[in-house]
Amino acid sequence: MNPLDNDIKYISGVGEVRAKLLAKEIGVKSVGDMLYHFPFRYVDRTKVYNIGELNEANTSGGYIQIRGRVTGKNIFGEGRNQRFVIYIADQTGKAELIWFRGIKWIENKFELGREYLVFGRPSFYRSELSFVHPEVEPIEVAMSRKENCGLQGIYSTTEKLSTAMGAKGMHTIVGKILDSYADKIVDYMPDYLRQQYGLIPLAQALETIHRPTSPMALKQAQFRLKFDELFGIQLNIQSRRAARTTAQAGFHFGRVGKYFNDFYNTRLPFPLTGAQKKAIKDIRADTVSGCQMNRLLQGDVGSGKTVVALISMILAVDNGFQACIMAPTEILARQHYATIVKMVGDIGLRIAVLTGTTKSKERREILAALVAGEIDILVGTHALIEDRVQFASLGFVVIDEQHRFGVEQRAKLWAKNTNPPHILVMTATPIPRTLAMTLYGDLDVSTIDELPPGRKPIKTVHYYDSARLRLFGFMREQIAQGRQIYIVYPLIKESEKADYANLEQGFEAIVRDFPLPKYRVTACHGKMKPEDKEESMRQFKSGEADILVATSVIEVGVDIPNASVMVIESAERFGLAQLHQLRGRVGRGANQSYCVLMSDEKLSKESRARLEAMCETNNGFRLAELDLQLRGAGDINGTQQSGEIIDLKIANLAEDNQIVQLAQQAAIALLTADANLELPQHIPLRELRARYTKRESVDFSVIL
Ligand code: ADP
Ligand code: MG
Repeated sequence: MNPLDNDIKYISGVGEVRAKLLAKEIGVKSVGDMLYHFPFRYVDRTKVYNIGELNEANTSGGYIQIRGRVTGKNIFGEGRNQRFVIYIADQTGKAELIWFRGIKWIENKFELGREYLVFGRPSFYRSELSFVHPEVEPIEVAMSRKENCGLQGIYSTTEKLSTAMGAKGMHTIVGKILDSYADKIVDYMPDYLRQQYGLIPLAQALETIHRPTSPMALKQAQFRLKFDELFGIQLNIQSRRAARTTAQAGFHFGRVGKYFNDFYNTRLPFPLTGAQKKAIKDIRADTVSGCQMNRLLQGDVGSGKTVVALISMILAVDNGFQACIMAPTEILARQHYATIVKMVGDIGLRIAVLTGTTKSKERREILAALVAGEIDILVGTHALIEDRVQFASLGFVVIDEQHRFGVEQRAKLWAKNTNPPHILVMTATPIPRTLAMTLYGDLDVSTIDELPPGRKPIKTVHYYDSARLRLFGFMREQIAQGRQIYIVYPLIKESEKADYANLEQGFEAIVRDFPLPKYRVTACHGKMKPEDKEESMRQFKSGEADILVATSVIEVGVDIPNASVMVIESAERFGLAQLHQLRGRVGRGANQSYCVLMSDEKLSKESRARLEAMCETNNGFRLAELDLQLRGAGDINGTQQSGEIIDLKIANLAEDNQIVQLAQQAAIALLTADANLELPQHIPLRELRARYTKRESVDFSVIL
């Protein structure tokens, strides 16, 4: 057994109670977990500020140190409202140190007139400086503390945990582990790789990441640990890719047959763009290569991915196979079905649609026809991956809006034939290159970087809520010209109830301001019954309704060319990619389209930057890069949203471009030489690979 798997409770000073807390609060159960709980930031503890030089601007949010003599102390309040205050001063000013908890323990630790070093996060109230729950040590103790450099790590923690053991407690535990386990840390990285990539030994990296001896040493430790993390992920991605291209025989689509020719010559309503042709060519090449295809088709909203998918599916049918296309929502699946049926017309293809709401009698018929090979193209939702859906000869699978599907779901589709079908994954959420390499590294990529001709760029403006009258005036103008309008409200999981309330109020206000008979308003949101949703979408699609009030259900894929205005309420609450997706619902017809971002006057710096970026550019790839920069990967690795997302402990996809590339290159070279990690010097790497196998089910709606 790996000694790093030892239970953390056996580390002296931890014990049952703290061990439980560590597990519950930050998921640290073993000694190794603790070692891999890296500081997320470092503070310079050689720097001691004068109290007088601190102000709100130069200390925003950061931890700092001051030193001062105690001039007094006091206890205010009773019981739970008790507050203990120490007054300290240096030559330049004074400050208050405040405790709300642990008062009994702390109150007798201070001597009047004695000098202390204070470490904490300053806050200012009416220009009074205070520190809540700082770390405090007598100055002599602080000065004698063994520290080779000023850098001290700050660990992410929770309120419960920091109350129970404080920053210092965490340092103590990590320190104890480092002292007693240093020689038990086995480096799985072979020497030749360490030399090739300039990686310091693992034990040294772990020691340094927690107790840096210099900024330079810290950089090297970070490099080593980031490399390991990205390399571990790449080992998985690249093994999977290698397995697919060597072992998985792919169906051979050698023929261009009657269906394709009929469709191409008699049905295709427009010439394909160069980018669409290129994508089809890529797919053609894959499907005659003898290997199974796993291709990502990325293209901005409205770039025309559907027809590429359709043509590919028709090719599969020409070669005697069935094909299916899976969409993330019921609305989208139904829309795809309608589009496809209309496009292919009467060339003789048998097409069906299957979703969660398909009635059981119809479902039975479809399932039977599918097994009998009487359906050529099946359109549907997640319902398609259920086990009872069996094909006679599934050869080609399209997954639309991949960000809603994970690797596991893709794998389920593989199992629907004796050989895995070719898989085309489509996304309108452009993915920055580093993200794509880390998350989609096992896919080949085709990019549609060109919009169909004749599209007018969408004009985007940002209004504050106070300009609502102006917005309403504009909406009336557009409706008078025969256009239709979307109004979208945010729907964020945590505040779902409040969000629905907002939507309902908004809906009522719109109905009031845009009265019948002149205006027809309809609504569509997740709380409605599927039939009602569909009816309301139908009304909007057919032009019976002028305004559709909706939540972000309409985010992906809905195609209504006459809708030319997208109003996004509380736009500051949406992510950049989501805003761009929503905007992509308009600009699909010949008319000038508009996107109006409504927001509160009070905006965080980041929200403002997002809204500005939206007004500046229509280019999804640009926005995706910008988004990654704005949020940094910290947030992407993030905590606040639900769903399985890639869990990077130290690498930062916004910044570590180069390391991503090195790690990929290293993994490819290594697996080319030793695909199954069988050479003695590679066997230890299996441990690293295993650590990242479970991290691949990625929900992109969360990331972008
Ligand atoms: P997305 O890539 O967002 O899925 P769609 O496939 O829904 O885009 O296509 C958007 C619209 O553009 C559809 O109305 C489609 O018919 C149209 N379209 C697609 N390709 C072309 C083309 N080459 N020329 C003109 N219109 C096209
Ligand atoms: Mg689409």
